[in-house]
Amino acid sequence: MLECDVAVIGAGAGGYVAAIRAAQLGAKTVVIERGELGGVCRNCGCIPTKTLIHAAELHRKLQHAEEYGIEVQGLKLDMKALIAHKNEIVKRNKSGIRALLKAHGVEVLKADATVTAPGTIKAGDHEIRASAIIVATGSAPAQVPGLKTDGKRVITSTEALELTELPGRAAVIGAGPVGAEFACLWNTLGSEVTLIEMMPTILPLDDDELAKRLAAGLKKKGIDVRAKTTVHKMDLTTNGVRLELKGAKDGAVEVDTVLVAIGCKYNSEVVTETPSLGVELDERGAIKVDERMETTVPGIFAVGDVTAKTMLAHGASAEGLIAAANATGGSKTMDYRVVPWCTFTSPELAHVGRTETQARETGIDVKVGRFMFASSGRAQAMGETEGMVKIVGDAATDEVIGVHILGAEAGELIASAALAMTMEATVEEIAHTVQTHPTLSETLMEAAEDYFGLGIHTLPKKR
Ligand SMILES: Cc1cc2nc3c(=O)[nH]c(=O)nc-3n(C[C@H](O)[C@H](O)[C@H](O)COP(=O)(O)OP(=O)(O)OC[C@H]3O[C@@H](n4cnc5c(N)ncnc54)[C@H](O)[C@@H]3O)c2cc1C
Repeated sequence: MLECDVAVIGAGAGGYVAAIRAAQLGAKTVVIERGELGGVCRNCGCIPTKTLIHAAELHRKLQHAEEYGIEVQGLKLDMKALIAHKNEIVKRNKSGIRALLKAHGVEVLKADATVTAPGTIKAGDHEIRASAIIVATGSAPAQVPGLKTDGKRVITSTEALELTELPGRAAVIGAGPVGAEFACLWNTLGSEVTLIEMMPTILPLDDDELAKRLAAGLKKKGIDVRAKTTVHKMDLTTNGVRLELKGAKDGAVEVDTVLVAIGCKYNSEVVTETPSLGVELDERGAIKVDERMETTVPGIFAVGDVTAKTMLAHGASAEGLIAAANATGGSKTMDYRVVPWCTFTSPELAHVGRTETQARETGIDVKVGRFMFASSGRAQAMGETEGMVKIVGDAATDEVIGVHILGAEAGELIASAALAMTMEATVEEIAHTVQTHPTLSETLMEAAEDYFGLGIHTLPKKR
């Protein structure tokens, strides 16, 4: 039997971070992982997708290099080399995590674990006794009836990351972050893409105005964006897949590859295999937790995708830090008010806080400031004039309710908005923050100035 203070199940973005923090706080810590260190994020999520997206952006920029007087000849894409490079980045990331866990004295066990009682885990042949348990088992793409994936022609994001040949024609079902990113990636690299979403806009969790603007941009780039559309039927044909669509525009499309990017299943069996344990799940099958990340059983914590709170790697890590503190006698709570979010489309769409619609629905008297990337000198210099910044504030107090950015580097730019919201800055304070010229960061300051009708590089509003 192995005894420890904290046992963490799952070494993804939530689990390995929780394990390192628990060890830093003086706990004898064990982490049990049945698959690969780094979980989805490092192996088949954030890092591999962003490696491929970086390659696609590089390709796009080289195609437009002529505008800058740079002649590029013989530009061609070698998908096999790109996938090999992506695999190398993944490998480096994983060995980095292994080294960190070792350096912090965290014991790593490779096994499939189940919590059998409070403080007791069965992990392969081992029994582990721990004062506290942190469940960080994540999620996996769901199988949807009628859209069952076969890993070849009908695939999930995991297989999509291994394609050494680009699909000539692809359909992406689901325009959430994963679907929208792959649609852009394949489109930029030259595939013919149909993007299907049942909701009225793509990226339905983002601000409506910016999501619609992004959708219009994607259409211009040649993506057949079908919102308010469902897949009625899917059949394998001799060479591909035929999808019958119902919605704004009925009809069928025939493609080589279908990416199913809808829904996921929470890996909560780790606590449900012992029903007497008493860890409660919500109606979606995710583990219920309180603001201390503790489940309905004292001493058992849960973080990351398995709780369905943010479905983001940095959300999982932030929860991991809270759970580790509480599992070692601390008292910390998770604040979801300021968790930034970015979808790495072309251009990127990022936000922090609430959308204009969400704020209005809660009865707030909302005021908005906007700034177009086209009016930014730096965006013009970079040839990246698509997009805008939108600041949503409370008209009564000028408290920042949300910041939404569509444009180049939106994922980086949102960081200063997140910091401002964490510091509870007002829109006026953002407007008064002097930004370096010429940078894209000026767009945030300009949007804040526009909020007060005082934008220098914005045309005066009609009275
Ligand atoms: C294609 C794609 C792109 C993404 N891009 C981004 C992005 O750009 N930014 C972002 O923030 N998020 C992104 N995400 C989401 C992000 O990857 C997840 O939110 C994050 O990985 C969740 O971390 P986690 O630790 O909760 O779970 P996971 O990363 O899923 O890790 C859970 C780990 O637990 C292990 N495990 C499960 N059950 C057991 C068991 N019983 N015993 C032992 N081990 C077990 C699993 O093997 C796994 O390694 C993306 C996801 C996908 C699919």
